[in-house]
Amino acid sequence: MHPHTDLRTDMLIDGDWISGSCGGTIPTYDPGTGAVITEVPEAGEADVAAAVEAASRAFESPEWGGMLPADRAKALLRLADLLEADADAFARLETADQGQPLGVSSGFAVPNAVEHLRYYAGWATKITGVTTPLSVPDVDHRTRREPLGVCALITPWNFPLMICVWKLAPALATGNTVVVKPAEQTPLTTLRLAELVRRAGFPDGVVNVVTGGPGTGRALVEHPGVAKVSFTGSTEVGREIAARTGHDLKHVSLELGGKAPSIITSDADIDAAVQGNLTGGLLNSGQVCAAYTRFFVDSARHDEFAEKLAAGAASMKLGHGLTEGTDLGPLVSAEHRDRVERYVAVGRDEDGARLHERSPVDGEGYFVRPAVLSGVTDDMRVAREEIFGPVLSVLPYDDPDELVARADATDHGLGAAVWSRDIATANRLANRVRAGTVWINMPPLLDAAASWGGMKASGLGREMGWSAIEAFTEVKSVWTHLG
Ligand code: NAP
Repeated sequence: MHPHTDLRTDMLIDGDWISGSCGGTIPTYDPGTGAVITEVPEAGEADVAAAVEAASRAFESPEWGGMLPADRAKALLRLADLLEADADAFARLETADQGQPLGVSSGFAVPNAVEHLRYYAGWATKITGVTTPLSVPDVDHRTRREPLGVCALITPWNFPLMICVWKLAPALATGNTVVVKPAEQTPLTTLRLAELVRRAGFPDGVVNVVTGGPGTGRALVEHPGVAKVSFTGSTEVGREIAARTGHDLKHVSLELGGKAPSIITSDADIDAAVQGNLTGGLLNSGQVCAAYTRFFVDSARHDEFAEKLAAGAASMKLGHGLTEGTDLGPLVSAEHRDRVERYVAVGRDEDGARLHERSPVDGEGYFVRPAVLSGVTDDMRVAREEIFGPVLSVLPYDDPDELVARADATDHGLGAAVWSRDIATANRLANRVRAGTVWINMPPLLDAAASWGGMKASGLGREMGWSAIEAFTEVKSVWTHLG
């Protein structure tokens, strides 16, 4: 067992810490060592039902249903303050459970979660409807934005706390209640956050957390008391959830996989592009849905770019996330490491592709050295399928007119990047490429105020900004006869 002494491992249901009705548990590992940190309950259907029923009661309760928007804002601000005060412990726990370097958890993931809570606290008092001039005599018409009810928030393992808060903050700001299901590999920061939710003064049942595997997630999606599913994860599971929520006519938001192209035009500053693409491709060891993974480079500069990218990747320090100076941590699990290495082998064995030199890995953790493949073509699997690891494919191009079609030649459409000194060219490409977000001359940043989501198989709906307020509310039309 890992030397964490103040771990929260029970589930939060209706304000109580529960160890689960069926007695099953799931271990969670430190991916930097392979050691078990602790075990968390595997929620059965009865636990899921208890959580949904608690959330339904809380939704109808005067304590929450009748809470003034300004008081919801204050509760969110208190939660933000508590999280900020405990930021160091959260960052260390995220690193231990997920593997990401401490610089990523403490410099990006935890502050981003704090910022989201404050941003949506601001919205709680600004969710307005409209009055509409109707062509009907003697009536007044107005709209109200109302919360949906119980929202199931299902999250992945790559940024567990941050993605949980992306959903939690707008869901609560708009007056919903929630049942959160974190990924089975990384439940610990979500459970620790649940502790802070109680201390921030949210009434019992407003926020519930159930832990478990896919069966727990499925039971939550299928529960008739759930009004909305907000899911971030793989396209495969997203399709299953879309089918089920479609059948049940529930609201749904899906943030799914990506395979972001990064277009480096012939006039681009190659050294700046190499630096930005190393960050864009290798943040959290490539376990980022918007990670830059396919680099389209003018064939005259393809070799130069690939060599510099490979040299930059090779110079990054691989190690345990808590070790000072670590640039790249392990992958989240042994299974995922093996999957990513299989992709590297598939890429290496393709005719025409070259795998740049990688030094061997040592240590017990689930480490993978970055793999740079050059001479990759659009039809190769490494260029089409989401790998979700540190595998960077460089593809030469000769005809700039083909770039958009080639960048779009995957099922995904989450993020894309363009690197060019000519800002008109960069914006023309950005406007045409099918991706929910395009970054020009920069790595993939996120901000609570900027809408986030995918086109094509990368998802349905948008999070962040006003989009998340819309996603967690529905519009009611109210008519008044004035005669
Ligand atoms: P995943 O396997 O789809 O799992 C995501 C969550 O869904 C986990 O909590 C998982 O539980 C749960 N789940 C699994 N099967 C389910 C089912 N049938 N019904 C309901 N819930 C179910 O994804 P992942 O491997 O954790 O995360 C990696 C994926 O997430 C990548 O594809 C990545 O691109 C995507 N992602 C997208 C975004 C975005 O914003 N678009 C952000 C981050 C990650 P278990 O853990 O117990 O399996």
